Amino acid sequence: MMDAYRLASEPYYLPVGDEVAQFEAAWQARLPTMLKGPTGCGKTRFIEHMAWRLGRPLVTLACNEDMTASDLVGRWLLDAGGTVWQEGPLTLAARHGAICYLDEVVEARQDTIVAIHPLTDTRRALPLEKRNEVVQAHDDFQLVISYNPGYQSMLKDLKQSTRQRFVAIDFHYPPPERETAIVMHEGHVGDDLARRLVAVAGKTRNLKGHGLEEGASTRMLVYAATLVARGIAPVQACRMAVVQPLTDDAHMQAALSDLVLTFF
Ligand code: ADP
Repeated sequence: MMDAYRLASEPYYLPVGDEVAQFEAAWQARLPTMLKGPTGCGKTRFIEHMAWRLGRPLVTLACNEDMTASDLVGRWLLDAGGTVWQEGPLTLAARHGAICYLDEVVEARQDTIVAIHPLTDTRRALPLEKRNEVVQAHDDFQLVISYNPGYQSMLKDLKQSTRQRFVAIDFHYPPPERETAIVMHEGHVGDDLARRLVAVAGKTRNLKGHGLEEGASTRMLVYAATLVARGIAPVQACRMAVVQPLTDDAHMQAALSDLVLTFF
């Protein structure tokens, strides 16, 4: 029943540091793990790669503020035949020994986030009050969350009571050589274009906190490369994939466009 959650082929992931060994150690101990880093720097790709490497199914859930504990755990639904239990993704993963990846967990409300706490205790049990059942997590179950410490306000920070339940693996944008290789592979472009895109990104990252909330992510560079590979001129591709998505501020857009022109 978990076949749908198994990765059919190896997701391409270029390691940047020791993250593979770090995650393997955390996995062997089944420690709840937090992937920490800016958006679009490879966290999701990494966990897909690791799930494939470890031969585990992967249940992924993007968190948002409308999400409730029932969305995670499960709920009773009414249908023609009566009530049926709809298992939530967290319960599904715990029961069947998947890696459960909660993406951008900070987006969820606190009363939703606490639903994951029992699974991070040494007992690794998930109480389903509505079903009068306590699910003992499968030996192979692991909880993984992603967290971007960059742009959250204090209001949307992870509480200590949650964060202290996790070990953290730190992610950053890959160093230029690696990022170039990633953009070439993912965007199907040559070395020269990939290098220029990475250089543009480097400049935007210096503007973080100086008018930009975030610099250009690896994901944005892959998008820009993809557009170029489909016939869009590089400057226009940078506008579409980097400048416009990064900011709505007209002055900042103009500054970024000028910056792009210095590389093409
Ligand atoms: P995050 O989950 O951190 O927001 P993603 O994992 O979705 O970011 O990364 C965005 C894209 O960047 C991926 O789809 C992939 O194309 C590329 N990418 C980033 N880092 C790597 C890496 N180390 N190896 C391979 N691809 C990467």
